Amino acid sequence: MDDKPKRPVNVRRPEVMAAVQDELGAYCSMLVDDIRAHGNVLKLDNLHLYLASAFGFCDGVRRAIEIAYATHHLFRGKRIWLIGEIIHNPDVNARLDALGLLHLPWNLNDPLYGQLGEADVVIIPAFGVPVPMRRALESRGVQLVDSTCGNVIKVWNRVKNYASAGVTSLIHGKAKHEETVATASQTCRENGQGHFLILSNEKEASLVADYITGKGDRKSFMEVFSSRCSEGFDPDVHLRDIGIANQTTMLKSETGRIQELLRAAVVRRDGDDTHFHAFDTICNATQDRQNALFELLDKDLDAMMIVGGYNSSNTTHLATIAAQRVRTYFIKSAASLISTEDMCCYNFETRTEEHCPLPSGTADRRRVLRIGLTAGASCPDNVIEQVIRRLAELRGCPLPL
Ligand code: SF4
Repeated sequence: MDDKPKRPVNVRRPEVMAAVQDELGAYCSMLVDDIRAHGNVLKLDNLHLYLASAFGFCDGVRRAIEIAYATHHLFRGKRIWLIGEIIHNPDVNARLDALGLLHLPWNLNDPLYGQLGEADVVIIPAFGVPVPMRRALESRGVQLVDSTCGNVIKVWNRVKNYASAGVTSLIHGKAKHEETVATASQTCRENGQGHFLILSNEKEASLVADYITGKGDRKSFMEVFSSRCSEGFDPDVHLRDIGIANQTTMLKSETGRIQELLRAAVVRRDGDDTHFHAFDTICNATQDRQNALFELLDKDLDAMMIVGGYNSSNTTHLATIAAQRVRTYFIKSAASLISTEDMCCYNFETRTEEHCPLPSGTADRRRVLRIGLTAGASCPDNVIEQVIRRLAELRGCPLPL
């Protein structure tokens, strides 16, 4: 085997993309395009649907899916592996499974990794992968195809800069989310000496702020964070100079509050914020979808439908925002809409599915039901169309095909 790892290959070549366009058409919807072209509103007899001004596929997700199809086309006949899910949407993942793409788990100790060799092709998902995983794949000589989103790479560059300046990265993210795990690994990349700590929410940020200002105790601090920090992390040393970064899909408002909480703690301790650094790494697509939802929630709505994968971080945050203002249904597809009395939706707090009716009174077909609709950055238009059609059907005004 050649000692040099193979360079990741560009599969989105014009001749390949021309060949995969038909397959990608499965994710499009003429109905959704038409609603977009008419101000994002669809008014039927007794159902008025208001779509957010930004929803559904972002550029990073679209690119990752194109890469998966192009890889399938270019390496026909070879074993093609995906690490985990390329993005978090069940419809997209089922379609990729149907192409015959194989799955590698997010666990480098899994025996499947030991079976990989030069003949294998491995697609890195849009969230990226941890540095040790990438190095292990390179050392096995596999052909890597990299779909890591450019916005994720920007976060990596930020934490790498912190690490080389001796600044500890405080990463606001979901500790088990692939992107956050990959980002954390970048802090230890060059010389293995960078440090990180992952904060999931404001409550955890408060614990860090307390420690910075001398109020916390080391034992209980490490009980909370020991599984979410770099090896050798010492809060008495590694919270002296801190830099904030966040998973690209976090809630903007929460990230802002966490930054201010930690800045204030450093100022209380030091008298100034010289040892505090912050850089908002929430991506534009996440931000646009959150802003569009806030706009939509200013309308007088009976309910809000949020469509997307339950494990999609940006979709969960859309559901969190909406639930604070109006009755919200977080659904994964049209199949969730069993009847007006039985909507199978995801409770993001208990992380379980629940069966709920539409708000009382809205099952009455004589009145106009006003529904807001948005979808996470990994949700394709074809799924959104199916949801719209199902809602129309449930209201007794099905749309012509
Ligand atoms: S949500 Fe943002 S970071 Fe994630 S794939 Fe889309 S553009 Fe990239």
